[in-house]
Amino acid sequence: MQKYSIFNLVKNAFSGHQNWDLAWKDPTPKKEYDVVIIGGGGHGLATAYYLAKEHNITNVAIIEKGWIGGGNVGRNTTIIRSNYMHDDNALFSEFGMDLWRKMSQDLNYNVMFSPRGIINLAHSDAQMNVYARRGNSMRLNGIDAVLLNREQVKEIIPMADFSENVRFPIFGGLMQPSAGQQDTMRLLGDMQDKLTQWELISFKTVKSQVLM
Ligand SMILES: Cc1cc2nc3c(=O)[nH]c(=O)nc-3n(C[C@H](O)[C@H](O)[C@H](O)COP(=O)(O)OP(=O)(O)OC[C@H]3O[C@@H](n4cnc5c(N)ncnc54)[C@H](O)[C@@H]3O)c2cc1C
Repeated sequence: MQKYSIFNLVKNAFSGHQNWDLAWKDPTPKKEYDVVIIGGGGHGLATAYYLAKEHNITNVAIIEKGWIGGGNVGRNTTIIRSNYMHDDNALFSEFGMDLWRKMSQDLNYNVMFSPRGIINLAHSDAQMNVYARRGNSMRLNGIDAVLLNREQVKEIIPMADFSENVRFPIFGGLMQPSAGQQDTMRLLGDMQDKLTQWELISFKTVKSQVLM
């Protein structure tokens, strides 16, 4: 397998980065599979991963029309949170957060999940009321939520603009201390490695061939 280093980067720069090896397998498709997953984004890779891990189903193909992680999963804000008001959203996201908390141990790879907390700022009294309601709802679902007034927000993020005559004055905020950030591309890279080790495959194809 090719090594990524500053020397390889410089060497490949001379050929316009056209000669890198593919970072994923590109095998000839088998005649049949137990499961075919369309799309090698976070959901596609995670589906293949958990099919193998939890259900021992490994005769799986992932069909990706572009490149692994080239969809939304490769360009998102990388926030991991469960600060939702409605039960189904909150509990579903909290289940996901629990997977993230254990992910580095499960994969034996640092997915750089950093639970540094999230604060959604409120810019009016009405928004403070909405956040109070959302926070109460979160706590009823066993999720951590702290309603902050303006002074408490100032203590945590003093560099924010707290002047009165700004377009969005800060009235307070809703904090979920256990929320955080992660590095999606590292996780995808490692999942892809695991799937390759387990001989699940991913291969490039074109849009029209996917609907076979
Ligand atoms: C700007 C932005 C910010 C976001 N911020 C956050 C955030 O902070 N926190 C959070 O939790 N979520 C966030 N999200 C949402 C999150 O990124 C998506 O919910 C998640 O990436 C969806 O994953 P996916 O695997 O379903 O889709 P994708 O990552 O889009 O993967 C779909 C894949 O399927 C492939 N594909 C599509 N059609 C075909 C076909 N016919 N044949 C073969 N392949 C096909 C695509 O090429 C793509 O690679 C954000 C999204 C965006 C766009």
